[in-house]
Amino acid sequence: MREDRIKRTKTVCTYCGVGCSFEVWTKERDILKIQPQPDAPVNGISTCVKGKWGWDFVNSEERLTKPLIRKEGKFVEATWNEALTLIASKFTELKDTYGPDSMGFIASSKCSNEENYLFQKLARGVMGTNNVDNCSRYCQSPATAGLMRTVGYGGDAGTIEDLKTTDLVFVIGANPAESHPVLATRIKRAHKLHGQKLIVADLRKHELAQMADQFLHPVPSSDLIWISAVTKYIIDQGWADDDFIKNRVNNFDEYVDSLDKYTLEYAEQETGLKKEELIELATTINEAETMCICWAMGVTQHIGGTETSTAISNLLLVTGNYGKPGTGAYPLRGHNNVQGACDFGTMPAWMPGYEPVENEEIRARYEKAWGVSLPRKPGLNNHQIVETIHSGKVKGMYLFGEEMGLVDANINHVHAAFEKLEFFVVQDVFFSKTAEFADVVLPAAPSLEKDGTFTNTERRIQRFHKVFEPLGDSQPDWKIFQAIANRLGAKWNYKHPSEIMDEAASLAPLFAGVSYERLEKWNSQLWPVQKSGESTPLLYTEKFPFADGKAKLYPVEWRKPYVPDEKEYDLHLNNGRLLEHFHEGNLTYRSKSITHKVPQPWLEVSPELAEERGIKTGALVKLTSPYGEVKIRVWVTEHVSGKELYLPMNTTDEMEAVNMLTSSYHDKVTHTPNYKEMSVKMEVI
Ligand code: SF4
Repeated sequence: MREDRIKRTKTVCTYCGVGCSFEVWTKERDILKIQPQPDAPVNGISTCVKGKWGWDFVNSEERLTKPLIRKEGKFVEATWNEALTLIASKFTELKDTYGPDSMGFIASSKCSNEENYLFQKLARGVMGTNNVDNCSRYCQSPATAGLMRTVGYGGDAGTIEDLKTTDLVFVIGANPAESHPVLATRIKRAHKLHGQKLIVADLRKHELAQMADQFLHPVPSSDLIWISAVTKYIIDQGWADDDFIKNRVNNFDEYVDSLDKYTLEYAEQETGLKKEELIELATTINEAETMCICWAMGVTQHIGGTETSTAISNLLLVTGNYGKPGTGAYPLRGHNNVQGACDFGTMPAWMPGYEPVENEEIRARYEKAWGVSLPRKPGLNNHQIVETIHSGKVKGMYLFGEEMGLVDANINHVHAAFEKLEFFVVQDVFFSKTAEFADVVLPAAPSLEKDGTFTNTERRIQRFHKVFEPLGDSQPDWKIFQAIANRLGAKWNYKHPSEIMDEAASLAPLFAGVSYERLEKWNSQLWPVQKSGESTPLLYTEKFPFADGKAKLYPVEWRKPYVPDEKEYDLHLNNGRLLEHFHEGNLTYRSKSITHKVPQPWLEVSPELAEERGIKTGALVKLTSPYGEVKIRVWVTEHVSGKELYLPMNTTDEMEAVNMLTSSYHDKVTHTPNYKEMSVKMEVI
């Protein structure tokens, strides 16, 4: 093999919010290896199994390579001209007949910042609707809402590097060893080698839970209660950071009053955690100079997800844990670009850079630059779009890079909505479950076939570079948006994603100094980025982004979870991820090395429940909820205990998909589904 025919191209992993970057070694279309480099800002020479082995899908024979149009109930291949002509005429017809808000736009947090920016520009500026959202609605929107209330920005307070320097890492409702593996290695190393304290609160005894100094296993959905009780105990003991509160925080007195009922006794009664456990936790927090709290969907995917995220931020404020290295909130982002999709405006109430659509001055800035008139009111989010399809107001939908037909909650209800659409365009790398309901399916190119940037969980913007030409007639998503916009009368002429980023940076102050020149090689930028190009690795060092520069303690109330008839549905079903697979698995199940090891998910059942029901590992069971059923094989394991089950969400098979069972109940503030509040019954079949 001649070395000079081998190409080495920098890319960024698309499998989680850690944002590892590395070189892809290729020869023609063969991927030879993934080579991490010491200069990579997040991971250096590390990757996990997905980043290393999860790329076979790029050359899969199952890739979509031609547009497909549904004709007489069957999909037939079409030219781009046919597909674009049909889309433009149907979008125009829907807009003219029912108005611009008859369309819903679902963006992708797997795709680039530039693509998300352009998609919301298409929705807002060309179609005239703010009905645009992305998959953060399914995961971390409650964390963003809780942080925006209290400290002003929705992103991680510091860097992943900072996690190594803190005295105490507190992980709540997250399983970083499987969902954010390289970040977890930083925590494990600091804990083992440098004596960093680690506390984990979770339903499952996962890897970090097993090595933690303290493991808390509360009753499902009770986190707000014990977090508030610990915060109250800290204040009552005189352990609050009085100087920090006096100088940097508003609303302390009202907040303290709101904690009255959260005594240790009340917490013990409602959460199952013993008073002594909570006192031990409060004492460890008090003894730590610095503390970071990491959390994920175990907190957010509840009807009170925003409230619990707010309670976490309140605890950090009371203990003075913001603004110094090794402190702050770390809502861990799941998808590789869930942060960036939100940052660049695929949200119904926010323009890029979290500027409200309702603000006239902000709208005027975009109207002038784009030469359009923009809708004034916030649009519908993912959840509302589904409900509004059912009620008949939303008639058309354009979705890219998102397997909504498997990952949204209560998918039977979602599929029924898809069937009601008058016109549905799905754009993806593979023919997905969602695509089965489409009228037009467009073939998109994955990250290795285009240029762009992603933003990881710590707000770090990084460049990824094109390795291959798009396969067949597939196209980068941004080019498809441009083609559709121009068919609808726009005059866009972006020749490269760098021009899209330049436009976004010129309009959104949060990214003022972001440019491809500054992102060359292994360079990266963390927002807010000043015009000079200066990044902000650590937020809140001087002030919080509110008018008076102070954070706000925000009183919150616990919301009782919705649980169906406990006699019939007697088991709690938790869900999450497998280390080896990403999301629904459309990409990783097509990567041979990974699928060879882990060909399917399984249901975790506790040894005591298995004994009671006479179930052994390998048994096939049926789980039933009021919304549907799945059939799945059992793994008896001590990861779970008592009547708590765990089913990974990673499957492309509808019959194993956890969202056959989930409900349409949701967080009251953000409408994030309550995926984690689920009761089922189990039968051996
Ligand atoms: Fe990719 Fe996340 Fe693994 Fe890094 S930790 S290689 S970003 S999946």
